[in-house]
Amino acid sequence: MKAHIAVLGGDGIGPEVVAEGLRCLHAAAKSFGHEIGITELPFGGVAIDSHGDPLPSETLQACLKADAVLLGAIGGPKWSAPDATVRPEQGLLKLRKELGVYANLRPVKVLPALVDASTLKPQILEGVDLVFVRELTGGIYFGEKKRDANSATDVCTYTVAEIERITRVAARLAQRRRHKLTSIDKSNVLETSRLWREVCARVMRAEFPDVALEHVLVDAAAMHLIRRPRDFDVIVTENMFGDILTDEASMLAGSLGLSPSASLGDGKRGVYEPIHGSAPDIAGKGIANPVGTILSVAMLLRHSLGLDAEAEAIENAVTLAIESGARTPDIVAQGERALSTREMGDAVLARLPARG
Ligand code: NAD
Repeated sequence: MKAHIAVLGGDGIGPEVVAEGLRCLHAAAKSFGHEIGITELPFGGVAIDSHGDPLPSETLQACLKADAVLLGAIGGPKWSAPDATVRPEQGLLKLRKELGVYANLRPVKVLPALVDASTLKPQILEGVDLVFVRELTGGIYFGEKKRDANSATDVCTYTVAEIERITRVAARLAQRRRHKLTSIDKSNVLETSRLWREVCARVMRAEFPDVALEHVLVDAAAMHLIRRPRDFDVIVTENMFGDILTDEASMLAGSLGLSPSASLGDGKRGVYEPIHGSAPDIAGKGIANPVGTILSVAMLLRHSLGLDAEAEAIENAVTLAIESGARTPDIVAQGERALSTREMGDAVLARLPARG
């Protein structure tokens, strides 16, 4: 098949990890006989520097035309002054809104070989395999913002339609997995959460009677995620709760650097990115873990291009590389040699099917 990908390396470690993701994408495409074109575009802080805009119109137009978008990470101290009027994050929020990607899928699977890399006890982690579905274009991050000398306000709004569509995405995913959906809210305090719970329950009753639904309050969920993570299958939640809980959940797998994500809308086009940020503390050192980005490439192949076998080939290559002992510094055991970002990419590439 022929496909075209818009690539936004972004800031900090973004370009470093994206380079390894692209090497795996090209290798998988070649070995399965696909032609995948790439356009690299400015985005985030680097685009503020070059264009005065974190999402220049040429970047947005190219993303709108592409079959999928691969993103590294954006942000950093250079663009984070409290009085800054243009911020990299504005570009990310606008990109998601313009592409209509409202469902952020974040799988968390604990690889047996990495059980020791986690801060949690092995017996808690065995068999953990869950997926977060985070609502991405509504809630408090997109509500009206106000500020005066003595106060600040962020408005949180959800519509019935927004809750219905994200519930359906999560429920369909649960139907392809273990038929269990956990909806997380704060309905004992927030009106938006009461609406969330009501609408979610109605959609599930009417359209997905084969999926078991449970509601959990966000504070309890934060606790259960590290107490009994194995019990979760698909988790659906609103934007800010999802933002926070997915970072917590990524630590089950051992490192922020291991987790991929896909942001999807109603069509096939999606935005794929590792869940970590630009990691300014390690940027430029060549030691960032590229696995989250490489696994995001696998999600891109599966969800936007419909290439399941190719996606699996990359996922298997990552598992084999890690089983063989390949480790970047964030997941290495004390006393063992750590690989550079590039070497970790090499370790995965070496385990992809031979080129065609
Ligand atoms: P971060 O995710 O960048 O880093 C948190 C910690 O995890 C750091 O110690 C970092 O070194 C480590 N880490 C992250 N990714 C890693 C990887 N691939 N390999 C090894 N270690 C890794 O979060 P932060 O420090 O809070 O934020 C830094 C910047 O990134 C901020 O400007 C923030 O706004 C931005 N950010 C961007 C995104 C995005 O682009 N989607 C997401 C989160 C944060």
